[in-house]
Amino acid sequence: MNDTSPFRLALEHALSHSLAYLENLEHSPVAAGASLQTLRERLAKPLNSAGMPAEQVIDELVADTAGGIIGSAGGRFFGWVIGGSLPAALAADWLTSAWDQNAASYSCGPAEAVIEEVCGDWLKDLLGLPRDASFALTSGCQMAHVTALAAARNALLASRGWQVERDGLFGAPKIRILSSDQFHGSITRATRLLGLGTSAVTGLPVNQAGQLDAATLEQALQEAPDTLTIVLLQAGDLNIGAYDCFAELIPLAHRYGAWVHVDGAFGLWANVSARHRHLLAGVEHADSWATDGHKWLNVPYDSGFAFVAHPQAHRNAMSYEASYISHNDQVREQKDWNPDWSRRGRGVAAYAALRQLGRHGVAALIDACCDAAHSLVTGIAALPGAELMWEPRINQGLVRFLDQRPAATESDHDQWTDAVTSAVLASGEALFSNTTWRGKRCMRVSVCNWQTNAQDVARAVAAVARVLQEQNR
Ligand SMILES: *Cc1c(COP(=O)(O)O)cnc(C)c1O
Repeated sequence: MNDTSPFRLALEHALSHSLAYLENLEHSPVAAGASLQTLRERLAKPLNSAGMPAEQVIDELVADTAGGIIGSAGGRFFGWVIGGSLPAALAADWLTSAWDQNAASYSCGPAEAVIEEVCGDWLKDLLGLPRDASFALTSGCQMAHVTALAAARNALLASRGWQVERDGLFGAPKIRILSSDQFHGSITRATRLLGLGTSAVTGLPVNQAGQLDAATLEQALQEAPDTLTIVLLQAGDLNIGAYDCFAELIPLAHRYGAWVHVDGAFGLWANVSARHRHLLAGVEHADSWATDGHKWLNVPYDSGFAFVAHPQAHRNAMSYEASYISHNDQVREQKDWNPDWSRRGRGVAAYAALRQLGRHGVAALIDACCDAAHSLVTGIAALPGAELMWEPRINQGLVRFLDQRPAATESDHDQWTDAVTSAVLASGEALFSNTTWRGKRCMRVSVCNWQTNAQDVARAVAAVARVLQEQNR
């Protein structure tokens, strides 16, 4: 023990504030109570001229952000698709900062480089992906898309004799992306960053189950059979968690020479569950995959994973070559596979999450979230004035609320649905987000947190019931 350590007080204060926060989540409102103005008034102080003690910085930070931290770490948060943090992953994330390794390269952080190697192998195994696929630990699924689609861009253009890394895209053959129209906005941005352009993406209509049909895809492929093509498939779309039929669509896309990329931001994790694995049959034949650690695996933020079935294309797209960098072919140099250079040691928290849960624990987490989503959605849908829009197959479902006035229109139902969600939020009991699905406003229910239990589900359903009762009075 070194009582004169400049770190000790700040870290001890951070620990006690963190525990106070985490251990009180159950009794705290899920919504942020402080207004934008309040947060600005408290936080936008003139930058101090003189420094201040580290522990005082921490204490004031906690005081000034009070009411501005939403309860996404806890079990009653069902908005967007947002996971919590497992204890080992959170603690490992702290260590990552304490160690402060530059995870660009083995030489800057030997243990971190090996941890990432191990994470890659474990993840491929859990997610049912080819053992020899290359991988990258990215900041999230967005950058996993960029990484994987850069590999696709390399391979497709190389097939026409074009070296995109050297010659850029001006004058290059065009690349198009065919997808269902349910693709996530992160794909749009990936096309912008990669110079493919948003107009490269064609969103094709889905069937009643939210899937891209083979006939629809084949027709689009046939329309321009000579155009370089990426087929983007969904493993769990953002609204209903729909899975495209990989066993049918991947061989079809390959017959036309397309590169198949899978967006499995959360849905790829269904592979760990014996109950849900069938949804992913055939997914291992794709050319690249993207998923998140910070959603369903419950790693703190800054955790995404890209996998590529063609390591050379991946490396061509990403490797960082410069004369002053030493190369060591014995080890996996992260900078050869990632879009960034200096970077956080992202492997540590993912490694810790996987070790805390173990293979069975990951499966139990996925199944528990699916069960909770099912109880929550069916419980809400059974309330008077509610309507079931999508019964969860995995962890995502949709409900909406009908305006009870006799002459109510669709637009009244839309407004009432938004109003119910806001009223539930204001109650502090639960947080849901809304979406427009098939032309209707819906409350979207997503369960991704290891902490969500039966009591949380009951509290959330009761909170919705109270809001509905008030309207009927
Ligand atoms: C969240 C999400 C993304 C984007 O992932 P980030 O980790 O936020 O970058 C992409 N696709 C789907 C289906 C998602 O749910």
